[in-house]
Amino acid sequence: MVMRDARYHCVASYRALVQADFAKNLWIPYTNLFPLGSEHKVVRGTVTEVHGDHVVVDHEGKIHKMAFDFLVLATGSYIPAPAKLKVQSSAEGIALMDKIRADMQSSQSIVIVGGGACGTEFAGEVKYAYPDKYVALIHDLSSLVDYPRFPQDFKDKAREYLEKQGVEVFLNESVEIEGLSRDNPCQRAYRTITLKNSHKAIESDMQFFSIGIKVDTNYMHTLQPAAASQTKRDSVIPFDVSSIIDTKTSAIHVKPTLQLDHGDDFPNIFAIGDISNADPVPTAYAAATAGEVAARNIIVLLKREMHADNIHKNTGLTRCFKSNEGKLEDYAPVKTLMVLAMNPTGGVSNLPVVGTLLGGLAAWAVKSSDLFSGRFWKEMNMPRP
Ligand SMILES: Cc1cc2nc3c(=O)[nH]c(=O)nc-3n(C[C@H](O)[C@H](O)[C@H](O)COP(=O)(O)OP(=O)(O)OC[C@H]3O[C@@H](n4cnc5c(N)ncnc54)[C@H](O)[C@@H]3O)c2cc1C
Repeated sequence: MVMRDARYHCVASYRALVQADFAKNLWIPYTNLFPLGSEHKVVRGTVTEVHGDHVVVDHEGKIHKMAFDFLVLATGSYIPAPAKLKVQSSAEGIALMDKIRADMQSSQSIVIVGGGACGTEFAGEVKYAYPDKYVALIHDLSSLVDYPRFPQDFKDKAREYLEKQGVEVFLNESVEIEGLSRDNPCQRAYRTITLKNSHKAIESDMQFFSIGIKVDTNYMHTLQPAAASQTKRDSVIPFDVSSIIDTKTSAIHVKPTLQLDHGDDFPNIFAIGDISNADPVPTAYAAATAGEVAARNIIVLLKREMHADNIHKNTGLTRCFKSNEGKLEDYAPVKTLMVLAMNPTGGVSNLPVVGTLLGGLAAWAVKSSDLFSGRFWKEMNMPRP
């Protein structure tokens, strides 16, 4: 079930913004995801309600129900444009990107508010593509990419890299820019921006808001445990969907098996990737790893069902599971791994074991030149454009 006609390869969004010929990598059609004649299919629509055994889907105003035996919620996150785009189709997305690119080409002084991984990569890409433009990155904490469990060395290297490129980095600073917000994250307007702490004034003609990752789990409000499980549990505590939604981030609480974290109420519903709270720092790598674990766990559950069914029907097919075959696998959150591609030639990395050592080389080798475009197109079984 997908909302749009093609998959948005967000990792490449900043490069596509500053380099028009890279934009062809951004939207990957779902056409070849499953082989011709496969019983699997991609269905287009937006899930608006989740129930214990079906979802409600809206496609262009037409509402329909889709029943499931197993459900994997992987609806991701929103990060202000151009990182992610609030559009309904690839055509709309391409047009929006073209408009922001044209605005940026005609601007001279660009301010990016928010120095997380996105703002940091974005500032580097802009300064590399437009060395003559002024680029400022404003961040309210004392370090860029200030995520839990990442070493200070990595955060310092990210700032040093940008400063060497010519980006002016302001730490421990915040600003309020009229009209600029999560819902209106790109603005082409002449402004004098005053930093709150130092009161320094910056003249700018284009501003970007690059703060925070948000997930939307509103579709969960309809969820109720199946009647049998409800009756069993009623004597203890009534079900409240907010108990499985993180109050701060709106992410879905999951068990180590990636099933919804509410006793035994939802063994058939999984949540993976940015929508779940399985990883402290959500990444595509974590989302893909979680997807594989969830898939293997569903296979185990299916086998259990088949096994129980065979016993029930007394077919004689009472094959026993191997000792670990009937056990669900626990997902291990991924290590502190991050590669920041600041431009096509390099960036900064923090890798397990080696840390920030060879960070620039690793960034170039792993990500910077291609931004995983080849890998994502291959994954979708599509020839690279
Ligand atoms: C600029 C940038 C650079 C990044 N670089 C890296 C990197 O180098 N390495 C790394 O590991 N990670 C990186 N990330 C993070 C990574 O892209 C995300 O963690 C990853 O995309 C999460 O995958 P996901 O499947 O959970 O969600 P998403 O990729 O967000 O996919 C969710 C999908 O669900 C669809 N959807 C949403 N709501 C609904 C609904 N109600 N009904 C139907 N469909 C719906 C969306 O349209 C979308 O297609 C980067 C992110 C950005 C923005």
